[in-house]
Amino acid sequence: MRDLLDRALGAYLGMAIGDALGATVEFMRPREIAQAYGVHRDIIGGGWLKLSRGQVTDDTTMSLALGGALLQGGSPALAALAHGDDTLVRHIGQAYVQWFKARPVDCGNTCRRGILRFMVEGTLEGPLNPGDGGNGALMRNLPAVLATLGHDALFEQLSLAQARLTHHHPLSDAATLGLGQLLRLLLGGLDHAGCQAWVSQWVADNPSFRLTPYRGRATAYVVDTVQTVLHYLTLHDDFEAALVATVNQGDDADTTGALVGMLAGARCGAARLPSRWLKRLQPDVKRAVTDQTCGLLALTGRTP
Ligand code: MN
Ligand code: MN
Repeated sequence: MRDLLDRALGAYLGMAIGDALGATVEFMRPREIAQAYGVHRDIIGGGWLKLSRGQVTDDTTMSLALGGALLQGGSPALAALAHGDDTLVRHIGQAYVQWFKARPVDCGNTCRRGILRFMVEGTLEGPLNPGDGGNGALMRNLPAVLATLGHDALFEQLSLAQARLTHHHPLSDAATLGLGQLLRLLLGGLDHAGCQAWVSQWVADNPSFRLTPYRGRATAYVVDTVQTVLHYLTLHDDFEAALVATVNQGDDADTTGALVGMLAGARCGAARLPSRWLKRLQPDVKRAVTDQTCGLLALTGRTP
């Protein structure tokens, strides 16, 4: 039990760390990063969003919005969802609306479009859209994984429902379920070798995401994002090595950083996250992430 809490906390804090670290170099090319920083390895804020040191972006704050809605609904709302009641999904949509109205530091175009559609039409998903292949649904799915541990069907149902509020695209769906499944396995104790084996098999089953040879693209297109995340996650067992290599690839570095931080953080556990990074996170974010981790695990009956 303590192991699970340590790994879950490692995932959520690791995600916030990756977001804060990567945001400094978001939309930069690897060569520009090298010129400006040598190797970018410190949480210093700045970047195109002009962040304060340790500030996180939409990747973390949308996850917190999702986690908040799941905690508010609690186990009864999850049980109702399992029986086909979509009240919880509606509440998640409202949480995204509240998040949007609070003027977040950043909001992706597809997320904005989806949230506005939900506000105007009240629909829980838009039609299948070739333009919805961004990583915005994938990046915020961690709370759905924690809230459904041990419940395979509910994990898939909740992940797809929260994702489709803003993104309706088969590759977004596949990536959200795939990385969600990998996170579940890492929370259960999957090690580096197991992680490598799982990734090879998943990529064989989902050839759109094939990552050898690695093409070095790290854009917000969900295929580029997933390739970068899985490439560096399987290349480096060490949390810091994996995350530094990822964000120095630039482009959507806060999101690739958040996802590698999440997966590598689950693999190593919170106790082994680099303390110099942990110290830099804003205290209110650290507190919210810690509270949500405990609360979401408790929803599955795995009370920390
Ligand atoms: Mn972001
Ligand atoms: Mn981003």
